[in-house]
Amino acid sequence: MNAPLSSLAQVSPDQAYEHVARVTHEVAAQLARRLRQHTQGEVRFDTADRGRYATDASIYQVMPAGVFVPRSIDEVGVALDICRDLDVPIVPRGGGTSQCGQTVGAGLVIDHTKHVRRILQVDAQSATAVVEPGLVLDHLNAELKKHGLWYPVDVSTSAQATLGGMAGNNSCGSRSIAYGNMVHNVLGVQAWLSDGTLLDWGPYEQSTGRVRQIGDFLAKLAHRLAPDIEANWPKVLRRVAGYNLDIFNNQSPRPYTADGSVNLAHLLIGSEGTLALTRQLKLQLQPLPRTKVLGVVNFPSFHQAMDAAQHIVKLGAPGQLMAVELVDRTMIELSLQNPSFAPTVRTALIGEPDAVLLVEFAGDSKAEIEPLLDQLEELMGDLGLPRSVVKMADDSAQKNLWEVRKAGLNIMMSLRGDGKPVSFIEDCAVPLEHLAEYTAALTDVFERHGTRGTWYAHASVGTLHVRPILDMRRDGAPKMRAIAEEASALVRRFRGAYSGEHGDGLCRGEWIHWQYGDAIQHALRDIKAELDPNNLLCPGRIVAPPRMDDASLMRFPPAYQVIPIRPALDWSAWNVQNDPRTEEISAPGTGGDPAHGLAKAVEMCNNNGHCRKFDAGTMCPSYRVTRDEKHLTRGRANTLRLALSGQLGPDALSSNDLSDSLSLCVGCKGCKRECPTGVDMARMKIEVSHQVRQKKGLRLRERLVATLPDYARHAARLSGLLNLRNQMPWLAQLGERLLGLSSQRSLPQWESRHFFNRGTMGVSAAQALASSQAVVLFVDTFNGHFESENALDAFKVLSAAGYDVHIASKTHEGHGANQGHLCCGRTYLSNGMVDEARVKAQELLSALRPFAEKGIAIVGLEPSCLLTLRDEYTVMGLGEVANLVARHSLLLEEFLVRELKAGRLDALKSRLCTINQPILVHGHCHQKAFGLMPDIMDIVKLLPGANPRLIETSCCGMAGSFGYEQEHHEISMQMAELSLLPALRSSPDALVVADGTSCRHQIRDGSQRHAIHVASLLARHLR
Ligand SMILES: Cc1cc2nc3c(=O)[nH]c(=O)nc-3n(C[C@H](O)[C@H](O)[C@H](O)COP(=O)(O)OP(=O)(O)OC[C@H]3O[C@@H](n4cnc5c(N)ncnc54)[C@H](O)[C@@H]3O)c2cc1C
Ligand code: SF4
Ligand code: SF4
Repeated sequence: MNAPLSSLAQVSPDQAYEHVARVTHEVAAQLARRLRQHTQGEVRFDTADRGRYATDASIYQVMPAGVFVPRSIDEVGVALDICRDLDVPIVPRGGGTSQCGQTVGAGLVIDHTKHVRRILQVDAQSATAVVEPGLVLDHLNAELKKHGLWYPVDVSTSAQATLGGMAGNNSCGSRSIAYGNMVHNVLGVQAWLSDGTLLDWGPYEQSTGRVRQIGDFLAKLAHRLAPDIEANWPKVLRRVAGYNLDIFNNQSPRPYTADGSVNLAHLLIGSEGTLALTRQLKLQLQPLPRTKVLGVVNFPSFHQAMDAAQHIVKLGAPGQLMAVELVDRTMIELSLQNPSFAPTVRTALIGEPDAVLLVEFAGDSKAEIEPLLDQLEELMGDLGLPRSVVKMADDSAQKNLWEVRKAGLNIMMSLRGDGKPVSFIEDCAVPLEHLAEYTAALTDVFERHGTRGTWYAHASVGTLHVRPILDMRRDGAPKMRAIAEEASALVRRFRGAYSGEHGDGLCRGEWIHWQYGDAIQHALRDIKAELDPNNLLCPGRIVAPPRMDDASLMRFPPAYQVIPIRPALDWSAWNVQNDPRTEEISAPGTGGDPAHGLAKAVEMCNNNGHCRKFDAGTMCPSYRVTRDEKHLTRGRANTLRLALSGQLGPDALSSNDLSDSLSLCVGCKGCKRECPTGVDMARMKIEVSHQVRQKKGLRLRERLVATLPDYARHAARLSGLLNLRNQMPWLAQLGERLLGLSSQRSLPQWESRHFFNRGTMGVSAAQALASSQAVVLFVDTFNGHFESENALDAFKVLSAAGYDVHIASKTHEGHGANQGHLCCGRTYLSNGMVDEARVKAQELLSALRPFAEKGIAIVGLEPSCLLTLRDEYTVMGLGEVANLVARHSLLLEEFLVRELKAGRLDALKSRLCTINQPILVHGHCHQKAFGLMPDIMDIVKLLPGANPRLIETSCCGMAGSFGYEQEHHEISMQMAELSLLPALRSSPDALVVADGTSCRHQIRDGSQRHAIHVASLLARHLR
């Protein structure tokens, strides 16, 4: 298959980019066919799939010819052969978190993250590891922990960045002052040249054959260019532009190798996939630091903070200073506005500083490194800032503060409106002695261009992140260029590096020439021509790049349009514009979005890839199971954005492409809480489902599920008959054939004697309104009809706590068979029946209003129902009453925690008896999305002897009706197997507490254990 190649070598480098785009279109069909024929990998060439891979965390968008997801690493080699044969360029990709457009390109995108992610070897003795390129850094470090080792290039995107991508970008982490960049930590690379030759790249002296030949070629170039390299190469640690031609004459303050020798693997580090395709990497590991301390220095002015950095970095013995990270005033203020960050931030502040520096030291014991904090304090005294240091030796306090620092960019990126903080000069690096002057001058540049930036990050190495706010749909591109030009002049003045962390990509390629000059630029072209003569690998990157402000390459070019739609939900909070100087937001609804805010809400996704994380938290369960970009929040947001902007063709909102991408979204709301920019895909799915229903109507199964609250009381009368379905397999199979409800599932058991037909209970509305001890219990359809003991137990617990409990009902008389049960409309919303849900909501709100007006708490049991009142109700056009009721609606455990804090729970506490059993708690996704897990844990702990353990789970996989659906049964069980079921198996004696109806059902189906609601746990332990 190593056929000779044609065209690309013959076009001038300047035309290459355009040329590539034409070639790929012509041969795409052939490419797809041959990939399918010769590999087991996933071959994806439809518009939606290509669109999902057309972007990364940059401002760019280029439609690839196709996407290939290899099943094994050697299939990358096969794809390379086919591409070479057809002259189709290749764009290798990891997590796609590059900020400069490295992974967008017109060729075949190869996604390494799904299957090509093995740890091939860990040698604890020599502290080395060999890995495949698609492995995520955090996953490697989780494995290394047991050896007391880690890979210390700790990029902020560690939960989603791959080792292959990190090598491609020569990435660097917060602790680079101690460990250096990728180039300092890679020992060897095995990689394919574009002609298909697989080479082992390592020490030059030991190399032979083709690698030696390349080494000799490079050595000659480097020797000839030594004066230019010496003159033009920035002498800072953070320099990632172009190819590392300085490996023969290192210009970095840190040697590339321990003994100063040349390692040819280092040529590939930072080459952004343009020279070779990585098959595996050999990494130098480091011992995990035994302990750390943190000093937070508070500065009255930003300038002083910048000026102090050069002195701080001299503290400690080599290897003791780990990081000096900046957090500026804007970031401090934004963090203080965030309720979950504010307490942590306050612990670090002395007065109202203009900036703080987080100074971290590591060592073998606290006793060894704590004196460094004293030295830091002394230094600050010498610099005229006595008593400016907050010392933190406690590990958890440090961890909390680092979390806030890591969230910095996320906090900034949540700005609504078309103006966005844009990354294009965010990682220029300057020598520390010029940091103060540089930041002041760049701030002036922003000012002159009518914008501003927030500064943060790596003060230790002179790389301060800053993103001016620009509106790329309007005048953003020319402003970006103008600011870039002025910033580059400053970088030159201070002899810094223009590209200091995030690579070149489409954004900074053209600045390589500016940085290095003619001779080196030619040398980089020669290197490219020597290694990739046919320009097959990522053409238009590093060599012959396009202009950074070429609007035809952008995600939001000036011609970007949104198709007008009338949404069912209120998205006006996103339909705003912002002032780039003050970040003030215009009034809701004034943003000019033809989709009334829906498009702008979707566009909040900036592709940072945080939803690819696998660690604690919920987001995104469907991705965790499938590892498929299509089933990722980012993939969904991109699909929806493309649909709303007409890039997926007409009627894209009701297209199969979109429904396919949304099909495995379980509506868990994990993204609502955990996505840094607050992309709320669960809500978007409701909106899209609504739009689809308008066109296509409902299927029988959807109607059956949605309208369950309406027929539940009639069905309950036939409970004996209906429950036969769970006993007779043929009935289950019939149900699967007719309705698509999985025959492998049991269905919830109907109760003939359920909560709503037990006669009157609790106080009447009038009594509740007159009582100072009143609480309203809202019993949902599921707890009321299928597990009425939960509702009865909640009633018992609230009564035992001394409350006058009123059961919410249509008649206000207290609940009973004839008084009509209320429904929140959740099942309708889940099926896109927003209008019908609104009717239910209006009914419920009018029943609850009098109590909310009196400040009486409304307590619910099922998280997905109760929290609908606090979430969707506020955007359903229900008026002020929705906000009023939302303010008073609480889950049982929330209510009890509130009362506990107010000292009103003594009666209940005195009646609770000891529990001796271990307890496992599983949270419903919506509980987690609203940050309510601490509440349930606190309430379980009210039981004497209780020592509950929270299971770190994502979604259990049942998610309302999702897990019952025949086509989703398997994936639903896989979600449960991610962590929930293994955790249950590992504690066979534990009592399992789960508030979610569907969670309890999943637990029963998956483990044959009977999980109970927290209400039942308490009720069973009442004396
Ligand atoms: C919010 C945010 C914070 C960030 N923080 C940091 C930070 O702290 N430090 C930092 O350095 N960067 C940071 N980045 C940039 C980015 O996350 C890193 O560069 C990261 O290492 C990229 O990893 P990835 O797997 O996403 O690679 P990708 O973006 O997918 O790819 C990166 C490059 O590697 C190439 N590549 C991928 N696989 C291969 C292969 N098999 N063979 C050859 N080439 C390949 C690609 O073509 C591309 O040129 C940040 C980005 C964001 C959005
Ligand atoms: S959905 Fe959120 S977390 Fe995922 S890439 Fe987009 S902005 Fe990032
Ligand atoms: S709602 Fe849940 S499943 Fe859907 S995109 Fe968000 S995190 Fe993923």
